[in-house]
Amino acid sequence: MAHIVILGAGLGGVPMALEMRQKAGSADKVTVINNRPTFDFTPSNPWVAVDWRKPDDIRVELQPMFKRRNIDFVCAMAKRIDPENKKIELEGQPDIEYDFLVIATGPELNFGAIDGFGPNANTVSICSTDHAEQARTKWLKFVEKPGPIVVGAVQGASCYGPAYEFALIMETDLRRRKIRDQVPMTFVTAEPFIGHLGLGGVGDTKTMLEAELRNRHINWICNAKVTKVDAGMMEVEEMNIDGSIKQMHKLPFEHSMMIPGFKGIDAVQGIDGLVNPMGFVLVDEHQRNSKYPDIFSVGVCIAIPPVGATAVPVGVPKTGFMIESMVRAAALNIQALLNGNEPNHKASWNAVCLADFGDGGVAFIAMPQIPPRNVCWASQGKWVHYGKVAFEKFFLGKVKRGVSESFFEKLTLNLLGLAKEK
Ligand SMILES: Cc1cc2nc3c(=O)[nH]c(=O)nc-3n(C[C@H](O)[C@H](O)[C@H](O)COP(=O)(O)OP(=O)(O)OC[C@H]3O[C@@H](n4cnc5c(N)ncnc54)[C@H](O)[C@@H]3O)c2cc1C
Repeated sequence: MAHIVILGAGLGGVPMALEMRQKAGSADKVTVINNRPTFDFTPSNPWVAVDWRKPDDIRVELQPMFKRRNIDFVCAMAKRIDPENKKIELEGQPDIEYDFLVIATGPELNFGAIDGFGPNANTVSICSTDHAEQARTKWLKFVEKPGPIVVGAVQGASCYGPAYEFALIMETDLRRRKIRDQVPMTFVTAEPFIGHLGLGGVGDTKTMLEAELRNRHINWICNAKVTKVDAGMMEVEEMNIDGSIKQMHKLPFEHSMMIPGFKGIDAVQGIDGLVNPMGFVLVDEHQRNSKYPDIFSVGVCIAIPPVGATAVPVGVPKTGFMIESMVRAAALNIQALLNGNEPNHKASWNAVCLADFGDGGVAFIAMPQIPPRNVCWASQGKWVHYGKVAFEKFFLGKVKRGVSESFFEKLTLNLLGLAKEK
């Protein structure tokens, strides 16, 4: 009998546990450890932050769902992974030993890298549902006394789609409230150009997103390095390609959300051979760590190099489709090992994105995610907003029932089908 432990129950960890349960033998045990009792659907956080969703609308209680699927659930914070002794130290609970471990913890949010940055200081965050709930409280105060907004993603961020989404969702909400005329908006990003998205652009995302910002009177600053955030004031250096400063900006704001850089969680930081200097888990093409071959990893917590050199550091996003394919490969590879075979399944690393703008949006598919690509498609329209609402309902429904499915692959195939019909 083998004990397979999945650390983290987010977009990667939940499907990982469900797939692993199907692929492991009936005598094998599958355990999930997560530091909170619920699965939170992160892609809906921007809607929570403008009060279009309540946190409970996008949450699923994990314990009953996993129990129905014969998966053990431990609600605890992992303090430290001990790969030499194949165990995980937990806060306030006994250690858990494993035969195979899948690390699926997502990122640690690196707000500490910039003075005055983050939800405990001067900006709000949408990276977790708890943060989005705090942001919602501030938003409801802000709309009573509107002023300038600064929104975007700081140097080293690797998640740009949600920054555009949130800028345009706030803009839509302000128009609906008839107070848009009182809110100057600036989009500040580390990307070298609008629509780069950490991917060198996808199809015509540059033109599409520039047009969207222009049409909605949102100014932008690219190649931006945020140096300091005071209450109501952000200091930004706009860089030239050679790394020299082109212009310094002092941007006043009443409300600000900037996506932070990510790093690995504390429980793995500094473990030689397991993680890189930022704490991201090192995996081979089979999602497996070379030094500790009983450890696999999926999702935002794995190490991926950037697409190319930029004036300001820009990370590569790890999105749902890619994470789903990592999960499938990791589950099949652990199954192979349980059956005495060698792992040979690889993730496909494609990207599909529905970026909602509240009353419209941009959809794109990049296969593979890193250029040059076989498929590179982008489109826009009202249908993207409705598509994202439908996808949220579909995904949460499947998690509630404990069904693992290729959600993102299906979405991609349907979108490509629609594109062909056009
Ligand atoms: C605001 C936002 C919107 C996004 N929208 C999209 C989108 O529309 N489409 C898309 O494809 N991608 C989107 N992404 C990117 C990506 O798909 C998500 O970030 C996704 O949630 C990542 O999944 P994950 O499993 O790697 O990490 P997470 O979903 O963050 O899950 C990690 C889990 O591990 C737990 N954990 C962390 N540390 C510990 C510990 N020490 N002990 C125990 N448990 C721990 C966390 O509580 C969490 O439950 C978005 C990202 C953000 C931030």
